Amino acid sequence: MIIEIALGAGAAVLVVLIWQGVNIAPMVFFGALIYLLYHFAGVKGGNKKFAVVESGSTTGLVKFKQIGGQQTAKKELLEALDFIRYPERVASMGIRPLKGILLVGPPGTGKTLLAKAAAQYTDSIFMSSSGSEFIEMYAGVGAQRVRQLFEKARSLAQKGKKKSAIIFIDEIEILGGKRGSHSSHHEYDQTLNQLLVEMDGMALDQSVRTLVIGATNRADILDGALIRPGRFDRIVQVDLPDVDARHEILRLHTENKPLSECTDLQKIARETFGFSGAHLESVANEAAILAMRDEAEKITQRYFADAIDKVIMGEKLERKPDSSELWRVAVHEIGHALISETIRPGSVSTVTTTSRGKALGYMRQMPEKDSYIYTREYIEGQISIMLGGAVAEEVVFGDRSTGAANDFQQAVDAAKKIIAAGMSQLGVVSLEDVPGRTVHRVIQKIIAAQEDRVRLLLVPQIELIKEVADILVVQEKVSGELLRESLKAAQEKAAC
Ligand code: ATP
Repeated sequence: MIIEIALGAGAAVLVVLIWQGVNIAPMVFFGALIYLLYHFAGVKGGNKKFAVVESGSTTGLVKFKQIGGQQTAKKELLEALDFIRYPERVASMGIRPLKGILLVGPPGTGKTLLAKAAAQYTDSIFMSSSGSEFIEMYAGVGAQRVRQLFEKARSLAQKGKKKSAIIFIDEIEILGGKRGSHSSHHEYDQTLNQLLVEMDGMALDQSVRTLVIGATNRADILDGALIRPGRFDRIVQVDLPDVDARHEILRLHTENKPLSECTDLQKIARETFGFSGAHLESVANEAAILAMRDEAEKITQRYFADAIDKVIMGEKLERKPDSSELWRVAVHEIGHALISETIRPGSVSTVTTTSRGKALGYMRQMPEKDSYIYTREYIEGQISIMLGGAVAEEVVFGDRSTGAANDFQQAVDAAKKIIAAGMSQLGVVSLEDVPGRTVHRVIQKIIAAQEDRVRLLLVPQIELIKEVADILVVQEKVSGELLRESLKAAQEKAAC
């Protein structure tokens, strides 16, 4: 409003000056110059609009019970929030109020949800921002935005008659990285310094208790001053969900969806090891979309299986290889699957020749249990499974194709893991200090051993590979169950 009045008054003055015969060109030039400086040098850029969600509104905030799993993170957070809910009790114990909580974990694990739930639980104003919003080329803009963020949180809390405010800063490593580590470090350092100043000043304001919740997946690069006690003194780990947590998250995200009686969320949870909450939400959503496309009334297990494939590999592509390529793809995938079943019976979930993303086909495994550490034997097994495709092609066609390039890359990475974990013939070594040639030789040896093993396993199964590949070419998809039945029948036949 003030800007509009000023612009109107300025225009009127210019008209009067022109009328009186004054040359206004220099004035217009300097005016434009000042405007450009104002616009680009950050004075205006500092006026950032941060996302605000007030607690009490039904949209935006969530309750802790709407977040699946994350029991430890929730417990730690709830304890830390007591200083906002019960300030007198905390003061009577002589406890220093907490200023910051750092949520550390991979993307999509619910860090933003936890911060929102914290605001809901404490009936606070919730202000959300991201580290990247504070970074500009121009000196002082970031610091100004940090000041604005805190001022706005306080003023909104006062306006809304709230006693507390929660400021959430996502990707805090962008603004809180180690000082001196950026090329334009002066601006970065100033911004971080301002955050430290604001956090130090928080204790002085008794009318609005403010809590800063930062989120990152790179706690290791944060500046020491930021994570020292008195600033972000609680570091809460927000990990990928385990099988029970995945089940709970799937249940939460399918509550409003018409599931068929045969849908087994526990099975889906078992098949989605390594998925984050965001992935699982996407699986539930995609399954519903696929069911709607088919005009189905209920969402069956089949739609969930397709949704998992879609989330892992991307949307189905129209691209169809010609019949000889398709036959090769089928043989390749059956090779992976047979080795997987031989090494870990019951591990194949599906094999398909549907093109998704860069893949012309794929085999999806179902882990028996969530595993977080792996033995050499396990990794060697994975390498064998990765090599199964190329070796099957070799056994059936007498040559290999470029389709195995990605499998080989994964096999090399897995072999490197063996070396890095001190499980190779080199013993415990630092990968950076060992000459590349030596590492290369050990990788080759590990992979060659598995290649021999896979060849020994697949050569006697050539008829079975062809038989199941035939079914795969016709049906496009073969379930783990069918593969196991075929394998069993072939073994019984061989035993006769
Ligand atoms: P990023 O680090 O990428 O910002 P984040 O950890 O903050 O991710 P959120 O934004 O909280 O992740 O989660 C994204 C979405 O994933 C949520 O809106 C929700 O639908 C789903 N989600 C993630 N974790 C959970 C969970 N534990 N329970 C229920 N839903 C979840």
